[in-house]
Amino acid sequence: MSRRTRNGPPDESPPPAPEPLPVGVLDAHCHLDLVGHRDRAAAPRTDLDVRGGHVVGQIEAAAAVGVAVLVQVGVDLPSSRWSTELAAAHADVHAAVALHPNEAGAGAATDEALRGIEALAALPQVVAVGETGLDHFRTEGPEGHRAQEESFRAHIAIAKRTGRALMIHDRDAHDDVVRVLLDEGPPDRVVFHCFSGGLDLARTCAEHGWVASFAGTLTFKNAGGLREAAAALPEELLLVETDAPFLTPSPYRGRPNAPYLVPHTVRALAEVRGTDVDALCGTLMSTGRRTFDLV
Ligand SMILES: [Zn+2]
Repeated sequence: MSRRTRNGPPDESPPPAPEPLPVGVLDAHCHLDLVGHRDRAAAPRTDLDVRGGHVVGQIEAAAAVGVAVLVQVGVDLPSSRWSTELAAAHADVHAAVALHPNEAGAGAATDEALRGIEALAALPQVVAVGETGLDHFRTEGPEGHRAQEESFRAHIAIAKRTGRALMIHDRDAHDDVVRVLLDEGPPDRVVFHCFSGGLDLARTCAEHGWVASFAGTLTFKNAGGLREAAAALPEELLLVETDAPFLTPSPYRGRPNAPYLVPHTVRALAEVRGTDVDALCGTLMSTGRRTFDLV
């Protein structure tokens, strides 16, 4: 649901800035190149100037409320390349590169794209290979699933060869994601972006030291199972993210998301865990530094 003005179009104005966090944190997953939050198929805008007003405004608005570090995530070869260019231009922005599971194909063109991803993953400003994984929500049929699994396995191998964290997209596919990870042998650092599991997946993550990154979905009314998982995980295995421009935290659902809205999710996480915001922010930042091997 989105807010509507009386008889008017939905309210698409940016939500107001939240109260700044007392200690800096990082947005572990955002897409500054995706514009147009209503259409999940919105194409990355790789024509955006990495030093231009659109992206600089988002980085500065985030820094102003304590979201000091951003991980910008590519979903195909052009947007992954753009992410590395953005990270090269801004000291507090790091890049993740991959072919999104919904982009998984097969054949020579895919092999070529994967070689391109591996070359980008080796760049110093790249901290993760992702988002990669399995999406059983948007991809149907055995052929689509097979292509995704192959692509996921290829990305796991790239993360291991380049020494990067693995950033996982898991949509309605918890069991299969864990199966493939354990079958391939996971890299040292694994993060489940937009963690969407319950207590079972939380337990599996805790057992293997995998990090769960919580998005604005944690603030949604119907997210009881997610909050249970967030309460049960060890504090040092938690991260927060926006997945901007999507998944805007409550009470601004339906309006565009951006990294400056991370504080809503941080405060929701502190409430769920009964911890104070200062201490949680400190742990989130050190987990981010460890997970993405930031100096
Ligand atoms: Zn994403």
